[in-house]
Amino acid sequence: MPFRVPLALFTVLLLLLPAKILAEETIYDQRMALFQKTEALTQIPWYYFAAIDNYERNVQNSDDPEQVISINIQPEIWYGPGNSTFLKDVTVIDTFSGKGKDGNGDGVADPSNEEDVLYTMAMILLEYGPDRDDIKIALWHHYKRDLTVQTIMNTSKVFETFQEINLTDRDFPVSTDYNYSFRSTWGDRRGFGGLRQHEGTDIFADHGVPVKSTTYGVIEMMGWNLYGGWRVGIRDIFNIYHYYAHMTGFSEDIKVGQVVKPGDVLGSVGSTGYGPPGTSGKFPSHLHYGMYKDNGYSEWSFDPFPYLKKWERIAKQKDQ
Ligand SMILES: [Zn+2]
Repeated sequence: MPFRVPLALFTVLLLLLPAKILAEETIYDQRMALFQKTEALTQIPWYYFAAIDNYERNVQNSDDPEQVISINIQPEIWYGPGNSTFLKDVTVIDTFSGKGKDGNGDGVADPSNEEDVLYTMAMILLEYGPDRDDIKIALWHHYKRDLTVQTIMNTSKVFETFQEINLTDRDFPVSTDYNYSFRSTWGDRRGFGGLRQHEGTDIFADHGVPVKSTTYGVIEMMGWNLYGGWRVGIRDIFNIYHYYAHMTGFSEDIKVGQVVKPGDVLGSVGSTGYGPPGTSGKFPSHLHYGMYKDNGYSEWSFDPFPYLKKWERIAKQKDQ
């Protein structure tokens, strides 16, 4: 029986394989465990902590793979106004009305300890109550910026919907089964409505070709715009706004506030814009695709072309 040994070995390897995969804890697993632990302590759903952490990581633009939690609470808030002792003792912090709390039960409130930071953030959120609207108000008082609050609330919705924080899939915005073409046109001059820089990439395709979401995110804006025609804007979980313009119309189920994933059909390619609502055909049909990054202070446009090239490659591999 020459096959018995290899077969048995193979079976053993198969049995060991899932255990081996489970044993390798990713940074996402570590984060999720911390968020869920904080939820258990405070009753605030984990996806709010995940969204705040994600927002701050993207604003800081830190690519440190070792950093588990990126939430950064200012010393003035942590230790209390005028508290120059910087003692981590909770009673001292309390005396100065500092917000730093002890989340891991070691008696000190340490701003470099992940559990302390998350528990402190939970207490900051709870200052206005436990409901979604209360959390939104607490976030506004903490960050004092509408776009920040909106981005965090949107991201929390994405995490809640997919019950997952490792959401890195991407898709190409035009179905690769159809004919289309695009090249780098970043910064080209546009004449209509005064001289402007071209903030995006034009993907030429026929009227009616499906337009798909490239990312996980939330529909932040849709409707008519003078230059963009029928356009839709999606805020992703990396503080990036994706802008799709000149569409013929939208899919029936697409509405502001809706969570989307890569590949969801948003509408179809058209040539709308450059006039009052409904204006169409003033230029060849194409999808205008723009990307805007928010750094916590301002938003700026960057060239989507290299990303589109990458997503096109991913989409073509999937179709094979
Ligand atoms: Zn364009």
